[in-house]
Amino acid sequence: MTQIFDYIVAGAGSSGCTVANRLVTAGKRVLLLEAGPRDNDKFIHMPATFAKVIGTKRSFIYESEPETNVGGRRLPIPQGRTLGGGSSINAMLYIRGQHEDYDSWRDLGCSGWAWSDVLPAFKRLERNERLEGTYHGTNGPLPVSDARHKHPLSLAYVKAAQQAGYRYNDDFNGERQEGVGFYQLTTLDAVRQSAATVFLKPVAGNRNLTVVTGAQVSTLTLENGAASGLSYTTADGRMVQASAKEEVILAAGALATPKS
Ligand SMILES: Cc1cc2nc3c(=O)[nH]c(=O)nc-3n(C[C@H](O)[C@H](O)[C@H](O)COP(=O)(O)OP(=O)(O)OC[C@H]3O[C@@H](n4cnc5c(N)ncnc54)[C@H](O)[C@@H]3O)c2cc1C
Repeated sequence: MTQIFDYIVAGAGSSGCTVANRLVTAGKRVLLLEAGPRDNDKFIHMPATFAKVIGTKRSFIYESEPETNVGGRRLPIPQGRTLGGGSSINAMLYIRGQHEDYDSWRDLGCSGWAWSDVLPAFKRLERNERLEGTYHGTNGPLPVSDARHKHPLSLAYVKAAQQAGYRYNDDFNGERQEGVGFYQLTTLDAVRQSAATVFLKPVAGNRNLTVVTGAQVSTLTLENGAASGLSYTTADGRMVQASAKEEVILAAGALATPKS
């Protein structure tokens, strides 16, 4: 039997949780599929303990090809494998990237991706506890805060860098990224704010949303050159067919999306 939805989202990571929230809020029926288990491990939510999750069933550990610049070694590449994806196992540093990178994408033909295009979206998304104005928002869904604990060695390091002539930077998402200072974090009251926490939990009870964990997407169904559905394997080994009246959205991460 084929399950039918308006949208199917493959991968419940940072982008999958976010897009599922937006679609369900807009009244669409959404199937959200995640290969990994739920995010119910306390070490995900305590900011200092994410390293304990990497290497467990809630992460994939890919390997690079041998890299000439590190003596031919293969480098491990961890990726999230749970609700929230990378945002459930990452270091929570709130960093948007360089303005110039976005402008170079615009120059390469990606209209809508210039810094001036994306900045309003970043500001709408953000709920910053300390910064506001040209670069920051304070009313969005994503909490951004300063670290509650600064290790004495971190303080000494930042001071030493200034003594060595590096400029202090109070805001790596402000006018310039260069400098030395303390990152802001996607945490609230010392708890990780993953995409699952911020975007999935608020719509978890919505009857238009179906979330399946342990669901490994394997095959896309194509009709007239566009994806109209997919197949996935459930945690107990069943193969399930699902189809989308509107779109199939691939959000399995930069490495797994083309691979799967
Ligand atoms: C260890 C680590 C530290 C990082 N630190 C930071 C940081 O401090 N600050 C920062 O901004 N960024 C950081 N990042 C990067 C950031 O987390 C990612 O850029 C972001 O999460 C990517 O989002 P995504 O939606 O593209 O993919 P992901 O969040 O990776 O989501 C992809 C999801 O798809 C699922 N999936 C994969 N294959 C399938 C399949 N076949 N079927 C079904 N589901 C599938 C995965 O299990 C995963 O949950 C870090 C990442 C890691 C891994």
